[in-house]
Amino acid sequence: MRYYVLDRGDQLSVDLAQQFHRLASERGFELDAESPEIVVSIGGDGTMLHAFHTFIDRLSDMAFVGVHTGHLGFYADWRADELHDLVDHMSGKNGQEPKKPRIVQYPLIELDIYKKSGNSSHIALNEFTLKGVDGTVVAQVDINDVTFEMFRGDGICISTPSGSTAYNKALGGAMVHPQIEALQLAEIASINNRVYRTLGSSLLLPKHHHCDIFSRKEQRLVLTLDHLNIPVDDLISVRCQVSNQKISFARYRPFPFWNRVRNAFLS
Ligand code: NAP
Repeated sequence: MRYYVLDRGDQLSVDLAQQFHRLASERGFELDAESPEIVVSIGGDGTMLHAFHTFIDRLSDMAFVGVHTGHLGFYADWRADELHDLVDHMSGKNGQEPKKPRIVQYPLIELDIYKKSGNSSHIALNEFTLKGVDGTVVAQVDINDVTFEMFRGDGICISTPSGSTAYNKALGGAMVHPQIEALQLAEIASINNRVYRTLGSSLLLPKHHHCDIFSRKEQRLVLTLDHLNIPVDDLISVRCQVSNQKISFARYRPFPFWNRVRNAFLS
């Protein structure tokens, strides 16, 4: 099996990564930084975001596994003390055939950024946001080429279902099961008066719908893409929709979404 490991960089995660390499070499796994079949992320959900963006051009060829070294994660289900178990599952215990993992796929967002200085395309695992640098953001939001609202406020957050438990949650957005192929638009502190009027609640767009956000004043913006920050001084618009690409996770045991929501936020 070809594998790669990314860790968060703290001592525990680095130690676990070394331990994983040792166990993997005993089982005959091949370390492959270019085209791994399995990418193991050791750290937290933030580490999974890094792993995702590291292999963003090869998503269809690989599956991700998360080991958490802090609290139970949304993308990381294996505990630090279960590393041996994980390697056993991956390699097959006591000479048995390795158990084939269930491959679970989650939706992603694709976005096209149109700027006076050029265009670019991206995909996000959690969300992207548009926020002002100097003041409020002024933007027109169109859904499926029809003007929907004129936004003014701190910003706009467009999240995936698996990102709904991250920034989106802090904005009062809904938790969305990752089997629902949708994107969620949540407002960040909108101003509502006679000129600027927004829905005031988050909304979900299904697959095959698209949303355009047009910059409606000269403004310096920052576009966040998961953990990445992209300064944008000359934005024309951003178009986003549910991507045709997905991220795959290798599940060697069940990891139900609603259990994760309950464990993270309720118990
Ligand atoms: P960070 O600011 O160091 O950490 C953000 C926190 O979000 C971490 O506790 C991280 O978990 C958690 N997280 C990441 N993805 C999650 C998910 N899908 N569901 C639930 N929690 C999640 O930044 P980072 O580690 O580079 O992560 C970037 C993410 O931070 C962004 O994608 C955004 O969603 C989130 N963020 C949240 C807020 C907010 O809630 N007000 C503001 C800005 C950004 P771990 O500790 O397990 O890594």
